[in-house]
Amino acid sequence: MNIEHEILTENLAKLDLSEMAEVFASLAEDAAARESSYTEFLSTLVDHELGARRERSIAMRTRLSGFPYLKTIEDFDFSFQPSIDKKRIKELSGLRFIASGENVVLLGPPGVGKTHLAVGLGLKAIAAGERVYFTTATGMVSSLIRAFQENKFEHRLKNYTAPSLLIIDEVGYLPLDRAGANLFFQLISKRYEKGSIILTSNKSFTEWGEVFSDTVLASAILDRLLHHASTINIKGESYRLKEKKKAGFFSREVMTPGPLDP
Ligand code: ADP
Ligand code: MG
Repeated sequence: MNIEHEILTENLAKLDLSEMAEVFASLAEDAAARESSYTEFLSTLVDHELGARRERSIAMRTRLSGFPYLKTIEDFDFSFQPSIDKKRIKELSGLRFIASGENVVLLGPPGVGKTHLAVGLGLKAIAAGERVYFTTATGMVSSLIRAFQENKFEHRLKNYTAPSLLIIDEVGYLPLDRAGANLFFQLISKRYEKGSIILTSNKSFTEWGEVFSDTVLASAILDRLLHHASTINIKGESYRLKEKKKAGFFSREVMTPGPLDP
């Protein structure tokens, strides 16, 4: 490396333009070979820096989002789950629901793709520059209760109110007691008409009274949640069981989706 390159590399690093430092030499050679204008060269250089920053930001926000796994909408096999209207999922992938503070509720038995679709929509939102946070209902409630005991409640609440999209997975797998249900209600109220929620549940709305140990509280939660919301009811076989079936773990008779699949 000649001295000019060395100084430029150092100065770009000082300006926090690490991608430019990385690529300027080869882009300069390229530009000379193609006889690009100075403006064109500078513009390509800036594009590289912006592209790298965008990728870093997406990677960082993906790491912080708490997804249980990373799967995209494109990874989803719609032919396996014909009860899902692919057009509606595509429409939701456009993310207008986030701009308008609307919610998405995914209902269905275990293994039908609720978490997968929620994560897929979450990844789209992150790529579009949104802040997304993924939690389970019990994870959120127990974290808020802990924070309350440690005098960190207001601060912890921001984890769930600040992101433009909050994903609350597995509502109904474990019932919440009164205190938990109250916290859940407070959170839903705080986000109401301000920030979108994607919520998944294996319980139909009529069973939410049991989930929240209180029918009045359950209807207050549903009232706010569903005021501006798309509900997607998934009826079908568990994808997990299909994979086990393929591997020959089960005989035909036990292949109905049910309590076997947690
Ligand atoms: P649940 O409805 O219980 O949340 P998941 O969304 O976690 O189920 O799906 C269980 C597993 O099966 C995940 O690994 C998910 O990626 C996969 N899966 C479910 N449905 C489909 C599908 N239609 N196409 C591809 N993978 C799927
Ligand atoms: Mg799930």
